[in-house]
This record gives sequence, structure tokens and C-alpha cells, in this order.
Amino acid sequence: MISVDEARALIFDLVRPTRVETVPLREAAGRVLATDAVARRDQPPFDASSMDGYAVQTVEVEKDAMFRVIGEAAAGHRFEGRVGPGQAVRIFTGAPVPEGAGTVVIQEDVRRDGQLITITEPWDGSHNIRKQGNDFAVGSTVSAPKLLRPQDAALLAAMNIDRVEVFRRPVVALISTGDELVFPGANPGPDQIVASNTFGLDALLRAEGADVRILPIAQDNEASIETVLVMAAEGGGRRSADLVVTIGGASVGDHDLVGQVAASMGLDRAFYKIAMRPGKPLMAGRLGDAAMVGLPGNPVSAMVCGRIFLVPMVHILTGRGAAAPGLRPARLGESVGQNGPREHYMRAVVEDGTITAFGNQDSAVLTLLAQANALLMRPPHDPAREVGEEVLYLPF
Ligand code: AMP
Ligand code: MG
Repeated sequence: MISVDEARALIFDLVRPTRVETVPLREAAGRVLATDAVARRDQPPFDASSMDGYAVQTVEVEKDAMFRVIGEAAAGHRFEGRVGPGQAVRIFTGAPVPEGAGTVVIQEDVRRDGQLITITEPWDGSHNIRKQGNDFAVGSTVSAPKLLRPQDAALLAAMNIDRVEVFRRPVVALISTGDELVFPGANPGPDQIVASNTFGLDALLRAEGADVRILPIAQDNEASIETVLVMAAEGGGRRSADLVVTIGGASVGDHDLVGQVAASMGLDRAFYKIAMRPGKPLMAGRLGDAAMVGLPGNPVSAMVCGRIFLVPMVHILTGRGAAAPGLRPARLGESVGQNGPREHYMRAVVEDGTITAFGNQDSAVLTLLAQANALLMRPPHDPAREVGEEVLYLPF
């Protein structure tokens, strides 16, 4: 049995970043930027009015000052002339500020009579102008690697970037194993259950930019497991998997055949047991061109292992490297007993800096995982801890 940290190091060594490809901007969100994106222009590209009003020379702005309106500037239509003393240009939001003008007096502060305007309020000092390049200047970058969010897509568009270099979505094959399993929506027999963690893992890894494939359920026999493993490796006409994840069948009971079958197919096994709770029967290695991880079948164990090991693997596959585990401090809201020899990740709720672990930590109980927003991490042999003591947790 190896420690969680040792397992982390071995497992992360099984994967490398995927190739880089160029995609249209619309496909960029949810992908990881591979090369810095560089702005092709200033934004705004000219000094732009941020209000509807009148553009005038700044030195002339004061209550009761009068101006003659000499023209108009609207978004997309600049005023070509120059604003001189005593002159004003009617201007709208987004329009280029005409030469000579330094302030846009908002229309609410102006009385207009024909072509004459009078400022009716004392000046509050605002110019109401967005300076050229104040958002970003030509040459500014969005730095890679970065998981692109919708707001990044908007920024890239404003930079006039229509194609971006991103890491290929790593293909993750999820293989559920067990005679008892059916997929959601099916009619389970009296001895059957619905495969659940498969769909939690799918959502978890897709959110990190993976192309997840849910393969058919493998039955608890060698032939069936081998068939589905081969399916994952070959990709069925599509790209083969970068990461093959099996769920269940990973301990050493009579029906736990995944390890045996993978070994017969040439699995170069890095380890098969870790000092972690939940998740002791975790297995990992290289199988052909793919990394392979065998997760325990218990729903909570699989999800916790997914959070701790698979999410960072997808980060590495998408060029982001494996970040530090990301543990955060909080104060205990209820005492916890002494921990055993395995690193324990307890379902817990953290609120306003206080963390409370659920009393029931049965690794089959999904309702408590769904209620949790944190995993309280107990190091091996951690002594009992009292209310108010500082502990570490992983947001989940
Ligand atoms: P195993 O690791 O195959 O011994 O499975 C441990 C427990 O997890 C058993 O109760 C299985 O029925 C259950 N299990 C295995 N795979 C899944 C799955 N994909 N979804 C939900 N439960 C599962
Ligand atoms: Mg099983």
C-alpha cells in the first residue's frame, strides 16, 4: 500500500499533454488555450464616448456655459471636424470623440434650444470618455494555458481573434463493470442497480475539458472486460482513449477481474492499492498508448478518487500541469475522532469558514455526497480533533 502523495506522483507520470489544434472561436470555450492569444487591435480603438451628450472643450465646461452645436457623432459615424471654443458636437455612446473635445457633458445636464445648448448643472469632473486602449492594447495577451470560459470567448472576439490554438480534448473512456449494473432509464432486474458514479465522473471530467465516452457496461467475466477494454483502446473509428478508466471490479474478490484482464493485455502497473479512505483498491498503469486507472466501484469512492486523481490527470493532459492538491483551511464545527492509518476524505459541509463532517461516512451513500460541498482531509493517524481546531479540506 502506498501513500496518497506517492500515488499522485505515479499517476500523474502516466500522462502527457495532448497535441495542439486550431479551432474556430465558437469552439474555444471549454477548451484549454495552448498558445498565448495576442490582441490585434486596441479596445476601444479610439477615444469613445461612454454617454449620450455633447462633446466640448474641457476648459469651457461650467454651469451656464453656452455652445453652438456644429454636428453629430454616432457609433460607427465619426464627426470629421474639430471642436473649437464655444462649439459642441452632439454625441452618442460608442461614438469616436471628435478632435478638440475633452469632455462629454451628459444630455441630462444640458438644455437645448435649436442649435444652442446651455449647461444647467455644475461640472462633477467626469469626462465620460473611454480612452483608446483602456480595455486592452494591441499586443495584450490572454495567457496560455487557460481553460477558456464564456467571458474569455467575448474577450478573444473583441481582440479580433477568430481562431485559437487549444489542446485537443483528451479522450477519456469510462468503463463500468458489474453484472448488477444497468444504465439510468433502463428497467433494472430485482438484483440490479443503476450505474451512478459513471455519470458523476462523466460530468466531473467534461467540466475540465475532457471528451468523455461512456462505454458499454462490462460484465463480470474476462471476455466481456477484455472486449470493452479493446473497444476503448481502438476508439471504434474515432480517436483512441488517452485515459481509460474502469469502475469497479478492482479489489481481489472472485468477481474482481479487471486487474487480471488488464495484466493479460499488457498493463504496466504502477500500483494497485493506496492508503486512502475511501478508495483503497485503486489501480493505475499504462495500457498500450493509454493511461489506465482502475477505480473502486463504490459510488462515493469512485467520485472522490475522480476528484483527487482524475481531475489533475485531465489538467496535465490539457497542458495545465498538476496543480497542488488545493487544500484549504477551515475550523471544525464538530469534533472528529482519531483517524486510522489511511488518509481519509470525509464528506462535509463548509460554511463561513467552519467545516462539519457528516456522521455517516459509508462509501456507498450518495445522498450525503450530493449534500457535501467539501472533503475534509484527515492525514493518516491524525489524532482526535476538537471543535474550533484548524483542519484542511478540498472543495468539492
Ligand atoms: P466492486 O468494486 O465491483 O466490488 O463494486 C463495489 C460496489 O460498488 C458494489 O456494491 C457495486 O455494485 C457498486 N458499483 C460498482 N460500479 C458501480 C457504478 N458504476 N455505479 C454505482 N455503483 C457501482
Ligand atoms: Mg463489481
